[in-house]
Amino acid sequence: MTLKLYNTLGRKKQTFKPIKKGEVGMYSCGPTIYWYQHIGNLRSYVFSDILKRVLNYNGFKVKHIINITDVGHLTSDADEGEDKMEKAARKEGKSAEDIANHYFTAFEKDLKEMNIISPNKWTKATKHIKEQIEMVKNLEEKGLTYNTSDGIYFNTSKIKNYGELALLNLRGLSGGQRVKLGEKKNKTDFALWKLSEDKGKRQQEWESPWGLGFPGWHIECSAMASKYLGNQFDIHTGGEDHIPVHHTNEIAQSENALGKRPWVKYWLHGAFINFKGEKISKSSGGLYTLSELIEKGYPALSYRYLLLTGHYRTQMNFSFENLDNAKNTLNRLKRLIKEIKDDKLINKKYLSDFEKAINDDLDMPKALQTLWSLTKDKKAIGKISTIKKMDKILGLDLLKKPKLNIPEEVQKLAEERENARTNKDWQKADKLREKIKEKGYQVDDTSEGPKINKL
Ligand code: AMP
Ligand code: ZN
Repeated sequence: MTLKLYNTLGRKKQTFKPIKKGEVGMYSCGPTIYWYQHIGNLRSYVFSDILKRVLNYNGFKVKHIINITDVGHLTSDADEGEDKMEKAARKEGKSAEDIANHYFTAFEKDLKEMNIISPNKWTKATKHIKEQIEMVKNLEEKGLTYNTSDGIYFNTSKIKNYGELALLNLRGLSGGQRVKLGEKKNKTDFALWKLSEDKGKRQQEWESPWGLGFPGWHIECSAMASKYLGNQFDIHTGGEDHIPVHHTNEIAQSENALGKRPWVKYWLHGAFINFKGEKISKSSGGLYTLSELIEKGYPALSYRYLLLTGHYRTQMNFSFENLDNAKNTLNRLKRLIKEIKDDKLINKKYLSDFEKAINDDLDMPKALQTLWSLTKDKKAIGKISTIKKMDKILGLDLLKKPKLNIPEEVQKLAEERENARTNKDWQKADKLREKIKEKGYQVDDTSEGPKINKL
C-alpha cells in the first residue's frame, strides 16, 4: 500500500516515506487553554486523529506530540496585545495555572467524547522554558536576533527561504509597508522572548539572559518538537491559519537553530469549519462548544461523523441542519449494521476500496461512501469484520452496543462491591450484590472486569 499525503511544503500530493523505516514522528499544534475549545478547534484534532489512525493502519508506529500553549500567545498575532492566559486569569479571578488546568481537563474530556486518541505526550510551554531560552540563545549566537525595548526579535531579513511554506511574497510585503513597524526592523520579524513590562505584574514570568519575561508564541513549538522528536522529523500538522505566521516562524527558528533543512518533511494543514460562510468568531457566531452540542441532544460522535463527510483540506460549513443530518445518518447506519449477521469473513473488495480512499490523502468522504455501499450490499460477504476494520479509522463506534444508563447509586454500589472483592471481604461483596439486585440490576464478573446489566 502507498500512502499519499498533500504536503503544504511544495503544494502537492506525495508518497509518504518516513525518515526512519516503520516509524513516524508527528507534531500537532495544540490549543491555547484560556477558554473552552470551540467546535472549529475540534476539527483540527479530528483531522490529526484520522491521519494518525491511517498511519497506524499502514503499519507505522507513530510518536505523536501535541503542545499545550499556556503562556505567550498574545491576543494579536503581531506580537502585541495581552497574553491570552493572563487576560483570562484576571477576568476569572484565578491563577493562570488554575485556568490552564481547568480548560485542559475540559479539552481532554472533549477529545475522549470525540474518540480522538490522546498523543503519546502532551507538552506544556510553561514546563519547557529552559529549552526555549536555549534555542533563543542559539539564534542569538548566530547573529539572527536583535533587541528592542520590549524583547528579543528574530531578524527575518538575515535568512534565505523565509516564508517558503506560505509562498510569501516578501518584496510585496515590504514594498507596500503601511503597517506600523514600531521597533521591528522588518514586518515579518517576530518575538522570541518578550520582556515583562512591569516586574511582578504578570503571573507567569521567568528570568532569562535578557531579563525577566516570557517566551514568544512560536518558539515553544520549535523547542518542544525538537526535544521529543529530534532535529528533523516527519509530519507537522495544524490548522490552515497557521501557515503564514506560526508555522512560517517555527521553520525559520528551527532550521536555523538546528541546522536541518527541511526541518519537517511533510506539513499538513486542516481547513476551517465556518458558520454561515464566515470564520467562527464572537461576532459572526458559531462559537459552540462540544458540551453545548451534547446538551442540545447531539452525541459527540454525530459531530465526528459530520466532520468526516468533508475532506480535511476543504472548508466546511457548520449548521444545525447539517448536524441533524449527520446524527440521523449515523443512527441509520448503526441500525443497519445491527441487523447484519457476523460470518467472520473479510470482504476484500470493499476493504481495498476503503484503503484506496484513506491512502489517497485521507479521502474520508469516499471512505464513508464505501462503508455505506458495503452495508447496503445485500450479496456482500464479510460485512461485520470488514466494518470493524474500517471503524478503526473512522472511530465512530459502529459496532459498540449503546451504553446502558446505569444510575449513579448502582454504579457506586458496584464500585464498593469491587473494593470488597479486592479486600477479599466476600460477605460484604455478596451483600452489595443483593442490594444492587434490589435496585433492578445485576453484576456479572467477566474477564474484562465487572459488568452491570438490567435484570
Ligand atoms: P488555538 O487554540 O486558537 O491555538 O487553536 C487550536 C487549533 O484549532 C489550531 O490548530 C487552529 O488552527 C484550529 N482552528 C481554530 N479555528 C478553527 C476552525 N474554525 N476550523 C478548524 N480549525 C480551527
Ligand atoms: Zn505550533
